[in-house]
Order: sequence, then structure tokens, then C-alpha cells
Amino acid sequence: MKRVICMSVMMVVMMMTGGLFAQNEEDLNHLLPQINADSVLRTVNDLENFGSRFALRAGGNLEVAEYIVQRLENYGITAVVDSFYNESNNWLVGDYAQWFYNVRGILASESPKDDSIVIVGAHLDAISYDSNYVLLEQAPGADDNASGVAVMMELARICHENGLRFKRDIHFMAYDGEELGLLGSYNDAWKRVESGDKIAVMLNNDMVSYQPDDDWKLTLHWYDNALDIVSRAAEICSQYSNIEPVVPTEEENGNSHYSDSYAYYQFGFRAVFAIEYTFSTSYHTYHDVSDSNNYDFLADVARYNMAMLAAYGELDNTVGVTEHTLTAMAHVYPNPVIDKACLLYQLQENSPVEITIVDLLGRTMIQQTLSIQTAGTHLMELDLSQLPAGVYLCRISTDKGSETLKIARK
Ligand SMILES: [Zn+2]
Repeated sequence: MKRVICMSVMMVVMMMTGGLFAQNEEDLNHLLPQINADSVLRTVNDLENFGSRFALRAGGNLEVAEYIVQRLENYGITAVVDSFYNESNNWLVGDYAQWFYNVRGILASESPKDDSIVIVGAHLDAISYDSNYVLLEQAPGADDNASGVAVMMELARICHENGLRFKRDIHFMAYDGEELGLLGSYNDAWKRVESGDKIAVMLNNDMVSYQPDDDWKLTLHWYDNALDIVSRAAEICSQYSNIEPVVPTEEENGNSHYSDSYAYYQFGFRAVFAIEYTFSTSYHTYHDVSDSNNYDFLADVARYNMAMLAAYGELDNTVGVTEHTLTAMAHVYPNPVIDKACLLYQLQENSPVEITIVDLLGRTMIQQTLSIQTAGTHLMELDLSQLPAGVYLCRISTDKGSETLKIARK
């Protein structure tokens, strides 16, 4: 084992509870109670009443997309149907050639802080089959995924009724053809690569309403380019809803591939994917109707999303997150860490520095506040011997921004 030599630094170590980031609590305290079960149920019912939202039925999902456009426009969001043609095949449906209909709604910022955007998205299509995988005519898809579209719509309603403006453009997306292989989200993500869009975060909700009343948990699937986002999402979920967030281990995170956020991740964009912790028993059957689901839970999922939108979209007059604006180039070595490691960071200007180690649920494990550090390179020892093995995030914050590193503790 290599010996780790570090300059000794006086550290103030304190355990902290609660939020790491400043946020305008007042705004959210006013907005979140307006989100309600009746309102999300209305969207679920409307979508269920199409009878089927199977993308390959005659005429496809054009009427569904037009309904979503209409609803968004009623909320003052500029929305269009964005169609595309796809000819392919898969094991379940065989060969197909069809038009597909995404919806893109935009709430433009009046005072953009930068050119990155926040996407809140969900797939609009549905599928159902019997136990022999024979496709069925009825595909109500209440949980999968009218629930995710209902979250998106509820956020649009809250934005409209409160005249909310953000420092980033907010894109409300509904995707067609998810059930055939993430067709709509691949199509949109590719268009965004071509147009050079920058995405601060893509918030994906897919199956977020089936949850027993006594066990409110939400799984937050993550992507390895956005660990800081899932950590923040878990923190926000705990703080602004009654739902217990569950961040899966790497072994349990395989389902991160099976929804629209994965398409964005494949193109290098950052995302987080929320799904009910207790998986629906009606999945892909004609039993997936609104009666089987829990709308108080769904409303609470919408509250988590609203708080994420406020944080990453930067609700005007709130203080949002700062991403990679630092100052500091930082490295930890060795990594994985046995007990102690060296943290190397560079400051471009004199600044106070705060080092915070959080776990993937956003809980602060160690916090060290250093008084003014001079511009230049600094080396300090991180003592992780008190922490259990696992993955942690190390945030180095200065008065100009922060940098987050992933640390594995062996
Ligand atoms: Zn789905």
C-alpha cells in the first residue's frame, strides 16, 4: 500500500443535518400545497380514456399528442407536436412502419442565466399484452405512464397559475414510442445533440403512482455522469415531500436503462429517473387503470419534481445550484480510499473553502470549513476511516462555486 502524505490542516468537523444548499423555502412552501391529487388524477383519466395509447394502432398517437399540446397551451406554454417516422421491428410487435408524435412545450426564460435548459419528461404511449405476450386492444396505461405525464402537466399548471419564471428555459416533453425501445426520447436527444442544446438536467418520471398507502418510497435511478444530481434529488425528495427516496446500489440500478432518461444519457446528457419503489402489479396489462393507483402519492411525486424544477431551473428570486463554475480543479488520491486520502485542489482566487462529504442519499457525513485559503494549489488529508464502505460525493465549495468528486471508500 502506498503511504499517503499530506500537509496537516486544522479542520473543523461538524455533523450537519438538513439542506446543504440555500433555497427559497418561502416560494416552495407557497407552491407545493397547490399540487393536488384531483388535479393529477384528471390528467390520468383523460389519457386513460383514449382506450389505447399503443403507438402502432391506426393513426398512432397523434390525437394523444394534440391533447397534450392543447393542455400545455392552456397553461401558456408554447407547445408543438414533433413527429418522426420510424421503420423497424422488435420481438414483441414484429415489423412496423409508423409515424410517432412527441410533444415539446417550452416555458422560455425572460432573463436567462445561461443557455442550458431543464427538461421534465414522460412517455405518452402505452402497451398491453396477455400472459402469452399477445397484444391487446385496450392499453389504458394509467400508471405506465399517464402518471408521468400527469406530473409534467401539474408542473405546467403550477407555473402558469403562479406566473412563475425561471432563469433557465423549461422544456415539457412527452415521448411517443417508449414501449418500442425509447424511440421518442432517442429522437429528441439526437435532435438536441444536433442543435447543440445544453441540458442542466432531464427529469424523467415513468410509473410513479402505484404505491401502497403505508409505504411511500420512490426509487431514483441514476447515471454515472450525474451522481451529484441523484444525491441532490434524494435530498430534495426528503425535504419537500413525504416520500422516502431510495437510491439503488449499482447492482439494483439496472432498470436505469429502461426508460427515456437512458436515451439522453446515451448522448452524454445528465438525468435522473423516478419510479415507484413497489412495482405495479398491473404492468403492461389492461388492468393498469386509474383505480389501481395512489393519487396522494402521485401528487407528492409532483412536489418532488416541482422542487427539482425550482432548484435546477432556478426559479427567479431563488438561489439555485452552481455547477462546475469553480475555481478549483480537484483530485482525490488514492481512489478508492482505504482510510485516508489526499485531496488536491487549486484555487484561482483567495476564498474560504468548505469540504463536504455526502452519501448518495445526500446525507452529510463530514463537513470541514476552512478559513480563507490563498490562490494556488492546496493539499489536505481526508480521513474517511469512520465511514462505512461505499460511494460518496466530495464537494469542494468556494465563494465562487463548487466542484463535486466521486469517492469510493473500500
Ligand atoms: Zn413506462
